[in-house]
Amino acid sequence: MNAIGVDLGGHKVVAGLVDGDVIRDRLEESTEGSRKPGPVIAQIARMVRALGAGPEVPTGVCVPGGIDAARENALMITNFMGWNGLPVRRMLAEAIGGCTVIENDANAYALGEGLAGAAKGVDDYVVLTLGTGIGGGVVSGGRLLTGAHGMGGELGHIVLGQEEPCGPGCGGLGHFEALCGADALERRAGAMGLGSRPDLRDLWTRREDPAVAPLWDFALSAIARGIASLIHVFDPELVVIGGGLSRGADFMELLEARVPRYLGGAFRKTLSIRLSLLDTDAPIFGAAGLARARMENFK
Ligand SMILES: [Zn+2]
Repeated sequence: MNAIGVDLGGHKVVAGLVDGDVIRDRLEESTEGSRKPGPVIAQIARMVRALGAGPEVPTGVCVPGGIDAARENALMITNFMGWNGLPVRRMLAEAIGGCTVIENDANAYALGEGLAGAAKGVDDYVVLTLGTGIGGGVVSGGRLLTGAHGMGGELGHIVLGQEEPCGPGCGGLGHFEALCGADALERRAGAMGLGSRPDLRDLWTRREDPAVAPLWDFALSAIARGIASLIHVFDPELVVIGGGLSRGADFMELLEARVPRYLGGAFRKTLSIRLSLLDTDAPIFGAAGLARARMENFK
């Protein structure tokens, strides 16, 4: 069955018509400028219709933030004003006119890697995305972990540091993202005298420069500690790494080499880390897969 997956981001909306392991057709637009619920939902509905959706093609929409346990209402959509508390799934379903589901974007990313990417066929895996934010999702026993309130699997907010403030959408201290999100690493680079507007890609190419190496020593060790903690909690078959940092030359090899020292002995031989296969398409596959599953359950 075909299904449509939509990835709503702060800067762009991507919609794809998914058929098995391939995206048959896709549309990409800048996110409607006001980012208000009415205009953005209208934009999504228009894009879905343009992909040829009818009542027989279900749609999954992933949103950049938290949603409730029932997958009906927005709890905290980062950088979008006026969405919190709204029945976003029902509003989308009414605008689109068919079976519609919503999911958090990082969870959809994780599901997508399991459906068509690096974790295909794996029932126990963790996905970690290293970008401006740090996101991820946990699939355990073939099911996405969502927790009692719908907020489970917030891997970017495990506490690896001390009192470093996390972003305005969070407000906690010492979180993984507050240490190793791209913004945090750029701030750290600035404080190390590596330029007033440091570029992480450039700094990665200079990673053996003695002035730059401590930045990456810090980041790789922190990320490795995070991965080791996740392995101890979830005992996954596989850890999939995505996001901008993961695409740096040799990044995965250098990261994987750091992890074993933080693992308990019995876990060391279980370590398996893979690069995301789908990258930014992963949420499209995940959202479409959820929509397809919902439709099949109602048949
Ligand atoms: Zn946080």
